[in-house]
Amino acid sequence: MQLKIYNSLTRQKQAINPINNTVNYYFCGPTVYWFQHIGNMRAFFVMDSVRRAVKYLGYNINHAMNITDVGHMTSDADEGEDKMEVASKREHKTPEEIAAYYWDICHKDMQALNIEEPEHICPATSVIPEIIAFVQKILDNGYGYITPNGVYFDTSKFANYGKLGGMNQNEKKFGARIEVDDFKHNPADFVLWVLAKDNHIQRWDSPWGVGYPGWHIECSAIGNKFLGEHIDLHGGGVEHRTVHHENEIAQNYARCLHDVVDIWFHLEHLMFNGGKMSKSTGGIYTLSNIIEKGYSPMDLRLFYLSAHYSKPQNFTFEALDNAKESYLNLKKLLLKHKSATPSTDKQIIENLKTKFSEYVADDINSPLALSVMWEALKSPASHDIYDLVLDFDRFLGLKLSEVEEEKQAIPQEIIDIAQERKLARINKDYAKSDELRDKISSLGYTILDKPKNEYEIVKK
Ligand code: AMP
Ligand code: ZN
Repeated sequence: MQLKIYNSLTRQKQAINPINNTVNYYFCGPTVYWFQHIGNMRAFFVMDSVRRAVKYLGYNINHAMNITDVGHMTSDADEGEDKMEVASKREHKTPEEIAAYYWDICHKDMQALNIEEPEHICPATSVIPEIIAFVQKILDNGYGYITPNGVYFDTSKFANYGKLGGMNQNEKKFGARIEVDDFKHNPADFVLWVLAKDNHIQRWDSPWGVGYPGWHIECSAIGNKFLGEHIDLHGGGVEHRTVHHENEIAQNYARCLHDVVDIWFHLEHLMFNGGKMSKSTGGIYTLSNIIEKGYSPMDLRLFYLSAHYSKPQNFTFEALDNAKESYLNLKKLLLKHKSATPSTDKQIIENLKTKFSEYVADDINSPLALSVMWEALKSPASHDIYDLVLDFDRFLGLKLSEVEEEKQAIPQEIIDIAQERKLARINKDYAKSDELRDKISSLGYTILDKPKNEYEIVKK
């Protein structure tokens, strides 16, 4: 079945058209200067859903994601300070230490959310020679110019500039930039290589002087290195549509002299308290915060799945409670089918599978795909349904193959001895307490003491 995705450029759903059935896929990765919150994680969940959909529908995948560890300014439009340098000063660490620390946490959160590893994960600082070569090619092809501040892209040379974000001529002419750089030819021109000020820590030699890459060029160079000159799908957060991805389109064209990306897709944000969940406006939660409050990563994943990626999703704890309850219910129903014999009509299974695949193929409709999963789970107990739902989980990613019967309850005999021991401890009869501990141990259990004479019994 062909995968169709809404293309933000042509503003219609479009079927992917991969060469040799292999989908070249790029998704803009994290800027590793701080914790990634569950809004950012929605982005990586969507990245993963698209990847899983591609595979579920029978295509091969070649997937690249950058790690931005240099050059992303506090404003996406190249103004302000480099986020890595700000973090470096704030935490008295080198930019490399900052990047390693925050990437490690982000990576672990992705793994906990069962986000599959892209084939290529690439820090921008590891491809500086490739970035320099890319910029040189843009200059050679006549799309860039050099100023005392660095190398710039000349947007007036690229007729389609502004098409993705729907910019009109006026906006192109005057731009939306806050500070106007006197050396820029057009307000919308953007930096490819920044010449470093004396106090800038991250710096590399280049044909144009010591400096560092702009943020936009990183993604184009990494995409080019790992995916080549034809990219089937390129995605990211909706805020990237007007600046970052607009610039990527222009850079790719200037480097390759043809369009590189077939389909651009954008996810809407996770909202909280009436606005986008964001570091700058406050009110954020990380995955660790959510786990501390008693939710599992799979509760959060089920919550994400319940909304279409192209719609904003409102985060509330009530909604997360619902997801937690649904996940418990899902596990219960799944186990009912697991222990049953296979007894479902083949045609019924086929129909459910087709319906599920159609929803996945139709612009990654995860809420409707979920509804097919529930429909299947609510049918009479059958191991065929268990196998079918495990197959659905290749797309859903809810770790359903790991769902097992709850561990055996602690036998009443052990509970009674433990209770007797607690009384002995309260009465300060430690000889008896030790004797009862040994008895519990000889029966295959360990007792872990907690404050105020409380305890936990675990099987050895
Ligand atoms: P950053 O590390 O700031 O570059 O962001 C990483 C990814 O998270 C980008 O694709 C952003 O578009 C995305 N993102 C940031 N905030 C949110 C949010 N509230 N909801 C969904 N995605 C977000
Ligand atoms: Zn990017």
